[in-house]
Amino acid sequence: MKLVLKISLIGALIFNLWSCSNEAKVEHEALQIVCTTNIVADLVQNIGKDSIDVISLMGAGVDPHLYKASEGDVNRITNADVVFFNGLHLEGKMAEIFERLPSMGKASYAVSDGIPEENYISSENFSGNYDPHIWFSVDNWIYAAEYVSKKLIENDPDSQAYYEENLRSYKNKLEKTRKSIKDQISLLPKDNRILVTAHDAFSYFGKDFDFQVVGLQGISTASEAGTRDVLDMANFIVEKKIPAIFVESSVPKQTILALQSAVQSKGEDVKLGGTLYSDALGNSGTPEGTYIGMFQANVSTIVNALKTNLEDESSDTD
Ligand SMILES: [Zn+2]
Repeated sequence: MKLVLKISLIGALIFNLWSCSNEAKVEHEALQIVCTTNIVADLVQNIGKDSIDVISLMGAGVDPHLYKASEGDVNRITNADVVFFNGLHLEGKMAEIFERLPSMGKASYAVSDGIPEENYISSENFSGNYDPHIWFSVDNWIYAAEYVSKKLIENDPDSQAYYEENLRSYKNKLEKTRKSIKDQISLLPKDNRILVTAHDAFSYFGKDFDFQVVGLQGISTASEAGTRDVLDMANFIVEKKIPAIFVESSVPKQTILALQSAVQSKGEDVKLGGTLYSDALGNSGTPEGTYIGMFQANVSTIVNALKTNLEDESSDTD
């Protein structure tokens, strides 16, 4: 009995494989897409919507610089129709996998390839590579959205009109978000715009919104902050009277706590301004689980924490 069942299952499987490959276009089966970070997955989901099924390998709180693909991840990638990743060496430990994909005939794309090279920020501290935290410029993310739409159309031309409509609607939302963020940040005087975080993820944000950004660790969390870095940074915070420094959701708190202690040991105080989403979105199903919600949450956290010394100073002079 068992053998008969097995043979008939194999028969059904072969028939299914045959019919899928011949009828996929007619049936419009959802493209199976694997993304590395949940930031990239959110972008792809917004363009592909109901025409695709998206899996994100990395969830909330996961550090992409250090992430190593599991055997399950490799299987998911192998079974996907299309793979999207950030690129510019963000996923530093997955480079070998990405290099192998084209020779396997797998459609795989770095969303950073959709952004003009002149928009990249170069960094000597990241082995001469470009800074991979491209999503912290909304302009860049609009380019990335256009690129994702183009690639989805290449892989699923029947749904071209659908992808183009989704792109239009998402670009519109991104443009509105950029405007509201800009308005919110304009409340913060230029002198207050110094952002101290655990690692250098916010250079694009700093460039777009006129912040000086300082990360305790470098571009990648793979490099650790040394004692001297902590002391230098503590001096900088005291000198500039910076009221708050920030923890990141995907980086352990210790380095920022060490920096806070170093400032306190100089007889000064610096607050923890809250947690920023740097290299991962929040949990899915929460506002911070989307790119737009994440960006708005970060900006609210930053503006609320850094405007406090304005209030202190005005009360000092009263
Ligand atoms: Zn990072």
